[in-house]
Amino acid sequence: MTFASPVKQMIFALKEMANYSDIVESELWPDLDDNFVETLLYEAAKLADNSIAPLNQSADKAGSILNNGNVSTAPGFKEAYKELVNSSWGTVSGMKEYGGQGFPKTISVMIQELWNTSCMSFSLCPMLTQGAIEAISHHGTENQKKEYLPKLLTGEWSGTMNLTEPQAGSDVGALKTSAKKNSDGSYSIKGTKIYITYGDHDMAENIIHLVLARIDGAPEGNNGISLFIVPKFIKNQKSNELEKNDLQCIGLENKLGIHASPTCVMSFGEKIGAKGFLLGEENRGLACMFTMMNNARLNVGMQGVGIAERSLQQSFEYSKERKQGRHYSGKSKNSVNIIEHPDVLKTLIKMESLTQASRAICYDNAIAIDLAQNHKDDKIREKYQLKADLLTPISKSWATDIGVKVASLGIQIHGGMGFIEDTGVAQHYRDSRIAPIYEGTNGIQAIDLVTRKLKISDGLAIKNFLDEIKETSKKCSEKNDNGFIKIANNLNAAIVEVEICTKKLLEWTKENKLRSVLFSASDYLELFGITAGSHYLSRGALSEKNTENESLLARKELALFFSTQILVNSKALSSSICSTSENLGNFLEDF
Ligand SMILES: Cc1cc2nc3c(=O)[nH]c(=O)nc-3n(C[C@H](O)[C@H](O)[C@H](O)COP(=O)(O)OP(=O)(O)OC[C@H]3O[C@@H](n4cnc5c(N)ncnc54)[C@H](O)[C@@H]3O)c2cc1C
Repeated sequence: MTFASPVKQMIFALKEMANYSDIVESELWPDLDDNFVETLLYEAAKLADNSIAPLNQSADKAGSILNNGNVSTAPGFKEAYKELVNSSWGTVSGMKEYGGQGFPKTISVMIQELWNTSCMSFSLCPMLTQGAIEAISHHGTENQKKEYLPKLLTGEWSGTMNLTEPQAGSDVGALKTSAKKNSDGSYSIKGTKIYITYGDHDMAENIIHLVLARIDGAPEGNNGISLFIVPKFIKNQKSNELEKNDLQCIGLENKLGIHASPTCVMSFGEKIGAKGFLLGEENRGLACMFTMMNNARLNVGMQGVGIAERSLQQSFEYSKERKQGRHYSGKSKNSVNIIEHPDVLKTLIKMESLTQASRAICYDNAIAIDLAQNHKDDKIREKYQLKADLLTPISKSWATDIGVKVASLGIQIHGGMGFIEDTGVAQHYRDSRIAPIYEGTNGIQAIDLVTRKLKISDGLAIKNFLDEIKETSKKCSEKNDNGFIKIANNLNAAIVEVEICTKKLLEWTKENKLRSVLFSASDYLELFGITAGSHYLSRGALSEKNTENESLLARKELALFFSTQILVNSKALSSSICSTSENLGNFLEDF
């Protein structure tokens, strides 16, 4: 089936569902006019649709190959990556001083979505590079920025993130990789990292590994971790030639999905020690890494959106072609296309509404990050920072859970053909499954939400966001339209449930009932996700603007569907959260 990037939907979500007007009104990016954004996205979509998307299935079959420490990527990847580099897509939001174009990150997040949707395995290479750019831009010395940023921005060099070790997964502080200071100020890095995405490959000239390690003598745990730049090739200061560093890929993981993304076991310093350069301050590595991870978390959320979109498109097409069964009304004896069966139609609408809602949450998250990082007014920066902090775990978890859910529903729409690999929808499901796991599992994101994010100023971030939702609900109720009034009533009811649960969680926190807080974490995140999703879909429904081929009614019906079929679960989630008991230990004792 031919895939087409949903550029119109993306632009609608940006401008009418998310708060893109805040970026425009900030006047921080005067060169950013509407035509420019649209042209940019349509151009990037050409690369996604014509060069990357056609590789998705064949690359999944071919996978990557490790030979003598060198990884070869699937046929076609090198050429598609070259196109991406030649057209400078990586430079869009980079700092101007180092070859970037200085546009908001929101735009590059949208471009990244195009790569995610067309081929998730391929998209991971530019995504990880983006993370390395963030970390070096924020924490690098002037020399480091000059040395690494220009080529990372173009994509001639790619970046990786090396945290995980066999005993150090979610608990990064348990890492064993060591760093010893050399007389020239560099460090010798020794250790093994596992699951390193694009740890080695043949698409870029050099790979800039960002590696977490403990400097000899540093404290145990999180406070003794430092971050290092460890390039695959290092420039010899005398000859100016690039020489291979003491590191290599010693294994490739055999995985459930994203087969074409090489997931490497990396060995650093087997011979003399891999040469590394401290990024940021000694023992402050985790803070530096979090700069990279926050960016990556949003982009992983966008992977959920991308895979949901891909699966939705394919399922929609299939349901319009596959004939099976008679019309439920008995109006004809002929077989009908399965989309005519209300159960199939409802599944498709559910897929569509979840996909659009998660896209809008991620975009508004990106907008909040841009304004938090760039606004000139301290107070306004602070306000957006609160929003960005709140939305990041929601984007990462809710959108990636939606990716899995929608991909699974896509298989269901295809019936038996969905389970057969040739169709391609099974691949979407396999690929989607990693996103809730990496960049901090969704469980860890939910814990972040109910501990750190909830506590900020006694729930202020949540209150501010609920105020935005109340504004949307007010606008719906002013519409003098039954559908909109229903949406408003359901939104108000969900807001009340979020408020009740927030109060409960804050009470438990004060009473030190941590087990109850943590037990409710994922339900609270889901409650928040569906409430936010309904808010953004309602904003879309309220908009006077429209995408082509779509009536205003369609947007209103979609928001109404979400509100009556999905948002109504807020009551059940709230009830589950509030009835959590501290006595869960009894359960463990029975084992
Ligand atoms: C395909 C793939 C690509 C990856 N790419 C990279 C990469 O490029 N760089 C990199 O550094 N890593 C990468 N990873 C590693 C990934 O980030 C980790 O797998 C992830 O952080 C989880 O760690 P773990 O696998 O050790 O699971 P564990 O930490 O063992 O977690 C197992 C379960 O326990 C839960 N859990 C763990 N600790 C807690 C806690 N404190 N509270 C509550 N629940 C908890 C988790 O939510 C999870 O459900 C990749 C992994 C895969 C599979």
